[in-house]
Amino acid sequence: MDSAPMLFEELCLLCEKLEGMSGKNAMVALVSDFIKRLNGDELEPAVRFIVGEVLPPWSGKELGVGYKTVYKVVSDIVGASGDEWLRLFNACGDFGATVQALFERRRRAQRLVTKRLTIREVYERLLRVCDASGEGSRKRKERLVASLFSDASPLEAKYLAKVILGERRHGFGEALMEEAIAKAFGVPLRLVHRVSMLTSDIGLTARIARMGRRALEEQGVVLFHPVRPMLAERASSLREALREVGEAIIDWKLDGARVQIHKRGRVVRVFSRRLSDVTQSLPEVVEAVLGGLSAEEAVVEGEVVAVGEDGGPMPFQYLMRRFRRVHGVRESREDVPVKLYLFDALYLDGELLIDRPLEERRELLVGRADEELIVESIRTSDLREAERFFKRAIEEGHEGVVVKDPRAPYTPGVRGRRWLKVKAAPHTLDLVIVAAEYGHGYRYKYLSDYHLAAYDPETGRFLVVGKCFTGLTDDELEMMTRRLKELAVKQVGRVVYVVPKVVVEVGFAEIQESPHYPSGFALRFPRILRIREDKSPQDADTIETVRRVFEEQRARQRISSGGSH
Ligand code: ATP
Repeated sequence: MDSAPMLFEELCLLCEKLEGMSGKNAMVALVSDFIKRLNGDELEPAVRFIVGEVLPPWSGKELGVGYKTVYKVVSDIVGASGDEWLRLFNACGDFGATVQALFERRRRAQRLVTKRLTIREVYERLLRVCDASGEGSRKRKERLVASLFSDASPLEAKYLAKVILGERRHGFGEALMEEAIAKAFGVPLRLVHRVSMLTSDIGLTARIARMGRRALEEQGVVLFHPVRPMLAERASSLREALREVGEAIIDWKLDGARVQIHKRGRVVRVFSRRLSDVTQSLPEVVEAVLGGLSAEEAVVEGEVVAVGEDGGPMPFQYLMRRFRRVHGVRESREDVPVKLYLFDALYLDGELLIDRPLEERRELLVGRADEELIVESIRTSDLREAERFFKRAIEEGHEGVVVKDPRAPYTPGVRGRRWLKVKAAPHTLDLVIVAAEYGHGYRYKYLSDYHLAAYDPETGRFLVVGKCFTGLTDDELEMMTRRLKELAVKQVGRVVYVVPKVVVEVGFAEIQESPHYPSGFALRFPRILRIREDKSPQDADTIETVRRVFEEQRARQRISSGGSH
């Protein structure tokens, strides 16, 4: 039987405790005890709130409420000025904590009595914010958010702000949540992780885990819930890749955007690598699948590339114009045509394929899809043949090749060495902008110098590895300045600190050890090569990768200096 509804305040107190803790096991135990006490209909929202989301990114629904709105709503409620915000923010360094401090002061002044919000109620009211659409929706969203904050205590306001803005400061992400779910319901972590990767839905995963081991074991893909993509590691040469994999399926590595396509009958949805629904932006992908894939139900994967008039690939930046407005315009299919190349099948007509070897999955895909929809590939263990294929890929304008182990299953969410990418270009890193400085000369009004950071999955923090001020065109600079200002949380002199959201691909001369940065590393001569709209901050390169690249580079330097003696 269900017990009394759980209060939102209890969830806030839990998050508060997590903020003060560092031991993972103790955190997992605490969350596991908490979720065990929840009623059935509270489990999903609570699990989502703790990891810092309201709905998964692919749901097609979003709050559409940013820092500016929360700032405005809270300022109106508590009657705070911009100066007060800045002073409090500088004192505590956290947006949610600033909101809490402002609410505390108001409470002291007005002796407010707040309503007792339950987890369920907060969730339902936030869903209403998601549902507000069409004309006047911005105002309506603002009103709904304002009324929620008006019912909140200071502590609740802090966590409302965090949930609404998707901030995950207390270091309790999905990986730890999977552990807490496994512990709470006495089921193997391996199974919880599998379902979480298959459904990309931690709330649903918790619900299935609560039903028991059998339910987890029987869970397949859920059509229209994207599966976490399997990712590749980098190999420094074809020789190294073939030595590792042996006889391999070698595909062209296309320089576009990864897509996962779900189909049931005439309904097709396309998901990006960040798991957002991008169907609207890519109507020709929908048409290609409806016309060229013979399956009633399917989950297939591939790459979408922008193509020029001659049908050859165009640079990645062109493709991004199909997803994001430049000067208020989003390019149409006429201006930036795209082409789809499929390379994997995860599910076909009732059969989950991820545990089958790649060679079987590929054969099934080739049997169902038109030839021109399949990526160019060969199967070989011969280095010369692989080199000829690689050369042709580069000549045709592609990035390189992906060397894949034909015996490997599809491992959702894993970056492993069963897929090895080999590129012609030197190593680059995908880093997150955590702060930006106003430039000099004609760039004085642009945020043009960026502090670049690598991700530390252990702590959820971003560690600076360099500063960089070159590489973007004037248009990009203007757009970037606008975006960074929206993400700004504080300014010290000319430096604006931002919420870590924007990922950029960075080239560099070398990596050095550095006592100057807490990361321990500094990039020499970094330059931004492109903005990676397709990556979330958690997809950025990790500090571990920076260390590995540094060590590879040191090994190479040793070999070459040894060789010169
Ligand atoms: P990069 O930054 O090198 O493009 P990434 O970090 O975006 O890579 P990786 O997993 O490292 O992602 O590289 C694999 C990516 O390459 C895939 O996510 C996909 O978008 C792209 N790709 C292009 N062609 C293929 C292919 N034939 N097979 C698999 N992935 C491919």
